[in-house]
Amino acid sequence: MAIRISGRKNEAEKVDFSRFLSGIPARDYIFQATPYEEQIRQAAELLKDADAVIVGAGAGLSTAAGLNYGGRRFTDNFKEFIEKYGSQYMTDMYSAGFYPFPTEEEKWAYWSKHAWLNRVEPDAMPLYRKVYDMVKEKPHFVLTTNVDHQFWKAGFSDENIFATQGDYGEIQCEKGCHPKVYDAIELFRKMNETRKDCRIPSALVPKCPVCGGNMAMHLRCDQYFVEDEHWHEAAARYGAFLEECAGKRTVLLELGVGFNTPTIIRFPFENMIREHSGWSLIRLNLNEAVVPESFGKRSVGINADIAGCIEEISCL
Ligand SMILES: [Zn+2]
Repeated sequence: MAIRISGRKNEAEKVDFSRFLSGIPARDYIFQATPYEEQIRQAAELLKDADAVIVGAGAGLSTAAGLNYGGRRFTDNFKEFIEKYGSQYMTDMYSAGFYPFPTEEEKWAYWSKHAWLNRVEPDAMPLYRKVYDMVKEKPHFVLTTNVDHQFWKAGFSDENIFATQGDYGEIQCEKGCHPKVYDAIELFRKMNETRKDCRIPSALVPKCPVCGGNMAMHLRCDQYFVEDEHWHEAAARYGAFLEECAGKRTVLLELGVGFNTPTIIRFPFENMIREHSGWSLIRLNLNEAVVPESFGKRSVGINADIAGCIEEISCL
């Protein structure tokens, strides 16, 4: 394939993330008519025969794993925020993150709690552990838009993970004035211990050590997202892994990637199937497991609960 990757030392050949992207969706999507049990069998067979596996994971995987952002998990944990800002804005953890908190004390009161619940407190979820068990014996790599750190917790090595959109455990300059991110878990711990009336003490508000401005969560939500040294190294490792897989039987195991940001995992995976005749796609998705009809037997799209699918594939 066309991706050219090199070490980041050579600035001229620096990894350009846009090369991983593709805005071209398939034109021939179908829901496969194959019965569920047969699809599970096909997926298990593809994985068994694979020389390498590339896992592509989106929000649907964490939801299936139990880290859902709405319902009781939200209303129980964010009761005082819902009362203060209104239930029309505070509908779930996804929407609440976009609330325009009027002060830094209130912004960090919210985000420290959000990060704690989704990044710090949960152990590896059983579903993530099962995904790890499924691929650990083969050369593998994870490309994910998830920011909850579950792949590391489940046992995947840092060398085999490229988390493109950030991490709830880190903060950065709000304006991205310098290419560095900061571990914020200790800070969030203190905020959680001292939060009162949806505010944290002013003394705990982080400031950028370079420009003195505000800090923000290390999440890709605007043009100021910081791609630090670790991010570029992970991007380079991902590119190198793709090249190593070129002539091998490679399975792209896509888990819970919908159409919110399909240009990072979903469409590029489809492109790679077109470019490599020996590669195949397993797409697990609760509602959106459509696959290009032209892929034929090289794709299995299972429209069902991911946790159930993984369990059944693992048992075969
Ligand atoms: Zn700054």
